[in-house]
This record gives sequence, structure tokens and C-alpha cells, in this order.
Amino acid sequence: MVDINAISIGLQSIKTALDITKELRGVDSLLKDAEVKLKLANLVEALSDAKIHLSEAKVENQELKERILELESKLQSKQEVEFREGFYYAKNAETGAASGPFCALCYSDSNKLILVSELPVGMRDFGNFRCPKCGTVKS
Ligand SMILES: [Zn+2]
Repeated sequence: MVDINAISIGLQSIKTALDITKELRGVDSLLKDAEVKLKLANLVEALSDAKIHLSEAKVENQELKERILELESKLQSKQEVEFREGFYYAKNAETGAASGPFCALCYSDSNKLILVSELPVGMRDFGNFRCPKCGTVKS
């Protein structure tokens, strides 16, 4: 992977190029051709450096964007859920993992799957399940 410093180096090269341009603007006609040529050569070098490093940064940026899309897609498929009778259920729970029911409020609020617990029979006045995180009781 490309070094993230490519952007910094590219920007530094642009600054150098701008400094040289300012010097060239300030050159009076008494300055010898050789000095102007030297400054122009330095200018071209600085701009070339900037181009190379910013191109590397562009490639790296593209790679990172692709990686983000890939991870977002993985995350999406991992948390694929369906809503049934007031609770969410995991469509493709991993082996050994609970498939629900999960608290609808917590999933809506923070996109987290919080497994609700079944209340003891004597405590079901307001519902059969209670979310351990937000305390919602629901049937
Ligand atoms: Zn909850």
C-alpha cells in the first residue's frame, strides 16, 4: 500500500514550486539566463514530484474507498435481519449465535442487536420480554 505521506510530500512539492514561481516573478532583467534556467529546472522538478506523490495518493484513496465498500457490504450481510411481531430476528445468524428476538428500539436507535430476555411467568403484566439495555418490555 502507498505511504499516506504521499499527500504531505506532494503538497510540500507544490509549495516549493510556488516559492520558485514567486522568485521568478521577482527576477529582474539583469539576472543571467543561467540562473533563470536553473530556477525553471527546479520548478519542473518540484512539480514532477508533486504529480508523482499526488498520483500515489489518488491510487491509495481509491483502494481505501474500495476497501470501505467491501467492509460495509460484509457488515450489511452480517446484520441482515427481519422484523416479525415486534422484534427483529437475524436471518443468517452464525452457528452458535442467537437469532433473536432482538429489541426493536435498540436496533432502530443504534443499529445494535440486543437479545431480549424472557420474563418469568409472574412478571408478565406488561409483556413477555424485556430488553436488558433499554428496559423496554414487550409481548
Ligand atoms: Zn432495547
